[in-house]
Amino acid sequence: MSAPASTAPTVFLDLNQTLVRTGQVALEERLREQRELEELRELCAQIAGRWGLRLVFLTGNSFEYSRRIEEPLGLKNLEGLRLTVVSENGLLGRDFRQGDLWRARPTRGYRELVDELAERVFAHPTLAGRSYTQGNEVRVTFKPVANAFAEEELAAFVELRVSLGLAEQAVVYTHRFYVDVDPLEVELDGERHRPFAGKGYAVRRLADPAARCLAAIGDSASDVPMFEAVRALGGTSYLVENAPPEVPGAESVTRIPGRFTAGVNRVLRGLLAEGSSIQDPGCGSPG
Ligand SMILES: [Mg+2]
Repeated sequence: MSAPASTAPTVFLDLNQTLVRTGQVALEERLREQRELEELRELCAQIAGRWGLRLVFLTGNSFEYSRRIEEPLGLKNLEGLRLTVVSENGLLGRDFRQGDLWRARPTRGYRELVDELAERVFAHPTLAGRSYTQGNEVRVTFKPVANAFAEEELAAFVELRVSLGLAEQAVVYTHRFYVDVDPLEVELDGERHRPFAGKGYAVRRLADPAARCLAAIGDSASDVPMFEAVRALGGTSYLVENAPPEVPGAESVTRIPGRFTAGVNRVLRGLLAEGSSIQDPGCGSPG
């Protein structure tokens, strides 16, 4: 029997470089990852069977990308598990049972500036031909044509951010695997959000205060709003071992001894081991 949803553990999970490796990966690595993902499915099934499980994929990537991660695993069909996908760093919420939950609307100023940025990137001496835009629905992300952006390419994006005055309209995350250009201001449910809380919005909107425990797992700066929102609710956040040595704003976040999926599994095993004695909202101490 599944526990009622109100007591189910809730886990907010970043995808790229947390649940799965990004970019070109050797086949052997990808096969190991696949075995670890099968283990993840088994752990989720056990947790969901015991207490129920609220799992939230909370990613900067698109919904369709997230769906392709989920599909071979079949997590959404596990008894007692409820899976929600929040994509584009919090701008778009979708539930596999309830359909669209929310969709943020950026300002006209943001859209105009992003159009300008795309034109500049297209014609830029360093960036032309080096990136493409991700298949997003709300905001713009640049992905590297090569496996990862080179330092000088990221520097060129930073230069454009300054010269275009992007800070007035956007939060820009530059990472070797992506450049996210998130709107600073959005309209959502008839309200103006400035600054929009990004992944933190999803946590505040979806976390159930009655949840048995609350955890977040990530690897980078765009996860910091998620970590902060989880901490504000008394939950526990984790960085996977492969996260960069310094993630600004995540200095106090616990680092899991486990890379990528193995790190996530470690938290899930901790959650299971703590068993029904879990009373506090933090969970999954990887010990
Ligand atoms: Mg990530």
